[in-house]
Amino acid sequence: MSIFQVATELAPIAKVGGLADVVYGLSKHLVSNGHDVKVILPFYKHLKKKLIDKPEIIAKSKFSLPGKVDVPVTFYKSAFEDIPLVLIQAKDQDYAFERNSIYGQMDDSYRFLLFLYLVLEYFQTCEKPKVIHLHDWPAAFLAYLYKKQALDHSPLDPTIVLTLHNMLHQGRTSKKPFEKLGIEHTHMFENPCLKDPNNPSLLNLLKAGISYADQITTVSPTYSLEIQTQEFGYSLDQVLVQKREKLRGILNGIDFDYWNPAKDDSLKKKFPSSFDAAKVIKAKKLNREHLRKKFKMEESSHPLFCTISRLDSQKGPKLIEHAIVYALAKGAQFFLLGSATDPEIEKQYEALKEKYEDNPNFHMSSVFDEDVAKLVYASSDFIVIPSKFEPCGLTQMIAMRYSCTPIVRKTGGLADTVVDIDDPKADSASRVGIVFEGFSKKDIEVSIERALALYLDASEYETILSNQSYLDFSWDRSAKAYLEVYKK
Ligand code: ADP
Repeated sequence: MSIFQVATELAPIAKVGGLADVVYGLSKHLVSNGHDVKVILPFYKHLKKKLIDKPEIIAKSKFSLPGKVDVPVTFYKSAFEDIPLVLIQAKDQDYAFERNSIYGQMDDSYRFLLFLYLVLEYFQTCEKPKVIHLHDWPAAFLAYLYKKQALDHSPLDPTIVLTLHNMLHQGRTSKKPFEKLGIEHTHMFENPCLKDPNNPSLLNLLKAGISYADQITTVSPTYSLEIQTQEFGYSLDQVLVQKREKLRGILNGIDFDYWNPAKDDSLKKKFPSSFDAAKVIKAKKLNREHLRKKFKMEESSHPLFCTISRLDSQKGPKLIEHAIVYALAKGAQFFLLGSATDPEIEKQYEALKEKYEDNPNFHMSSVFDEDVAKLVYASSDFIVIPSKFEPCGLTQMIAMRYSCTPIVRKTGGLADTVVDIDDPKADSASRVGIVFEGFSKKDIEVSIERALALYLDASEYETILSNQSYLDFSWDRSAKAYLEVYKK
């Protein structure tokens, strides 16, 4: 079964967020279990070429745009670790893949539509796939292109799977890129939300993908239900309701080798290889002392809270701020690792940083640094994740691997991975964190009070850490679920 992952990100060679980790984790797991998997990516100018095998040309081709403009195209093969790659290079007049970043350009829809056309060309001329796995809106439209324009229907047609990593981003676009590429557009692609008077004729690339994919997955079971509602479907809820027979939530995994506190060189003191509460608590204490020294925080016997996150409206930035203010007022410490791109949120956090500039119980760092992140997970007692919505979320899973207790809002993958410490309906061995439902400052205050009480109850605290140590969020389970979908 030849499986192709069609994606715009792959960690760490072309990474913006969690999508890159998922494409990497899933592909690595499938390859190491003997499956024939390849990842197809644009050959970005900024791709981390030093990390991959020397690219070798597979084939050269020409892609004709309307108006008899030929775009020279080269298909390369390479590999990252053991994952085979196909890299597509296009020498078009717009330098589609030669920009400084993956997303955020005015013509992103055109750039990724061009990429998908070239993927189709690759399938027609170089290799026939058995499974095409598309990730998010930049890849979604290939489902339509493949089914409608390319190949005759036959039992040998591949299964096309589309994974929805975040419904907020849908590839809404004018007709311009379609015209530029000579693709006919139909009412099928019209954006269902026509409320924008400035853009009455928007098209929606994700909608086309959802309409034509054979199977649709999203990254947690709860999110698969949430996106069928108006609040979380962002105008595609009814399209998804119609497709619900084909929609399935598969929880993301995390790479258990990479996120392994027993072998993690970013830590001052590694954890024992099998769980021992006293030794784990001791290791966390030593890491915490190191973190405090490194970031000029005060010695303290009070717990350390943290948040490690993009400071985006999705992540509840006002509630994160309130958690900081409230925890500090209660004598606890807080480490915030994250930065904002939205100017309003950036301003909010600059003001907070200024307010607590001389407070030795608080540190805020805006860098993106995985070594620091690992030290913070290993040092902290609690991580605060008050997301408005969260398709899956990796930070709560990583945190529990480092015996850092999550405080989460009950939404999406957070609801699927964290069972409350007092949940009367849950088996006591499954209780691992603090869960709240509302989206208010009061919810944060109650949750922090509960965390402080847990911290003071040594025996209960050890039980919760022990419960966390039995959780298995490795790719094993998730990859098996994807294989079932591929075989449908
Ligand atoms: P999202 O994909 O929505 O950003 P996830 O919880 O799925 O959120 O994944 C976030 C990932 O990014 C985690 O691996 C987390 O450790 C990492 N991360 C977030 N902010 C930082 C940062 N400032 N430095 C290092 N790693 C970070």
